[in-house]
Amino acid sequence: MVRPAPAPPWLTPARQVPTTFAPRLLGFSLRHGVRGPTARYHAVQLPDPSAAAPRAQKQPKMPFLSPPAPTIIIAGAGIGGLSAALALHAAGFEDIHIFEASSKLTTLGVGINVQPSAVLILRNLGLLPTLQSTGVETQDLNYFNRHGNAIVSEPRGVHAGYAVPQFSIHRGEFQQVLLAAVNERLGADRVHVDHALSGFAQEEGGDTITAHFTRRSSDEPATIPSMRAAVLVAADGINSTARRLLYPDEGPPRFSGRVLWRGCVEREPYLSGASMVWAGHADQKFIAYPISAACAARGASLVNWIAELRVRAADDPDLTPPPADWTKTVPKARFEAPFAAWTCGGLAVKQLIDSTDRVYEFPMCDRDPVPRWSFGRLTLLGDAAHAMYPIGSNGATQAIIDAETLARNLAAATTGDVAGALAAYEAERLPPTAKIVMANRANGPDHVLQLAEERAPEGFDDVHAVIPRAELEAIGAAYKAVAGFEREGVNRRARETEGLAERWLRRRESREKVQTQVRVSEVGAAENGVGVAA
Ligand SMILES: Cc1cc2nc3c(=O)[nH]c(=O)nc-3n(C[C@H](O)[C@H](O)[C@H](O)COP(=O)(O)OP(=O)(O)OC[C@H]3O[C@@H](n4cnc5c(N)ncnc54)[C@H](O)[C@@H]3O)c2cc1C
Repeated sequence: MVRPAPAPPWLTPARQVPTTFAPRLLGFSLRHGVRGPTARYHAVQLPDPSAAAPRAQKQPKMPFLSPPAPTIIIAGAGIGGLSAALALHAAGFEDIHIFEASSKLTTLGVGINVQPSAVLILRNLGLLPTLQSTGVETQDLNYFNRHGNAIVSEPRGVHAGYAVPQFSIHRGEFQQVLLAAVNERLGADRVHVDHALSGFAQEEGGDTITAHFTRRSSDEPATIPSMRAAVLVAADGINSTARRLLYPDEGPPRFSGRVLWRGCVEREPYLSGASMVWAGHADQKFIAYPISAACAARGASLVNWIAELRVRAADDPDLTPPPADWTKTVPKARFEAPFAAWTCGGLAVKQLIDSTDRVYEFPMCDRDPVPRWSFGRLTLLGDAAHAMYPIGSNGATQAIIDAETLARNLAAATTGDVAGALAAYEAERLPPTAKIVMANRANGPDHVLQLAEERAPEGFDDVHAVIPRAELEAIGAAYKAVAGFEREGVNRRARETEGLAERWLRRRESREKVQTQVRVSEVGAAENGVGVAA
């Protein structure tokens, strides 16, 4: 369990809020390269989160303080940060700035999955056609043991009766899709690269929060060293600076003892051409799925694969992750030997690995759930809030659901009660995501692989003699319920929000038309000398 941030000594007990867990002060600064806050406390006492946080009204009206538009800062232009920017914009917020630590947003990462519950949100943001022309609509998910015996196969997305697809997509291309929409809708000057959030400060009951930025590419000060806003959303990933400042004793992510090696290679399609393959067991696993619509259009498959091995004993008390750089390639000799004889779903694993040019290494890590994400005008989102094992294909999905929930709650805060809206967002999202973190630690839906390995290590002819059908189905259904993508719920929300993207686009067009007319008449007035100060 994460220990709370200690209250500074000068905070007398009388002023402390009656919570046992929360960092009580806000306003920390972390210079680049310095571990731990430099304790520049600015502001004090936060409201007790357990005291009924006023739930924001569910029916969005006009965003609070509009006009003038409140400024919202998002730290991190990953999937979570960019989705939050788009969701907030669709909810009516205009003045949104995204600060990204990297100096360039390139197509980093390999494959990622987006479950229907998040695809629905992206559909409602008008992004479905672009996703369809970028990623692959996953058709089925197939589990095998390490001998290649089939355990269970289930349809996915629209093939399973969902109103929207499940997508398998390249993380970097997905990020570019979101970035292009942000540039187009919010303006090309709203994503500030080479700006790492380094600290923040807010006064209790004040109207603003100030975010501080540094450059990681050099010692030069950031172009925008600080900015004041109504809200600061920290979507700065598993190594979140904001979270480190709020929970300084937490330390690095928690290593599972397993390492993932990931790569992508173009080859001929296998199974349905849009199939996910999951093989092995908890300590040695192989996963593959195609991720490129462009490649599929050529009759081929760009197959994203993941080889996973346990490298540290499960009972090793050392949870420190080994050093790793997600952007650097590693030699295949580190991991490929144990997979040499594996064949599953028509894929010869060694051949797939051998034909891949670049392989990346990812220690599989997560973080313990924290009891609180929202602190006054600051909140955490995505991996910064709930880093989880990449089991059950949920990291990006949950970040997108966070984004929609945050935008809805802020838009409903018509009185401008930012802290209340952020507390309401946290109340909706923290409990379910904490459950997913824990479910993924217990193997999530991949539990079927572990059962097959434990009950029939030498393989089987009939899986149902090893794991009864009802037990297999129950594991999948239970995980969908925990992760919030049961078909009935998603389809109900899809019906309720049908046409939302189109309505929003129409509203936007008419707003732009009005703005153009206003500009034209202002220019006309200026030319005629009307309204110009003497
Ligand atoms: C380079 C990279 C590659 C990845 N590859 C994969 C993959 O192949 N498959 C997979 O399943 N998941 C991958 N992930 C993780 C996956 O993207 C997330 O689990 C999920 O999408 C949730 O997204 P997020 O926006 O919360 O976090 P992330 O996607 O991690 O995005 C966080 C963003 O914040 C930026 N950032 C970090 N610190 C600061 C700071 N102090 N100030 C401002 N910005 C900051 C980071 O540069 C990053 O752009 C990858 C993440 C990264 C960063």
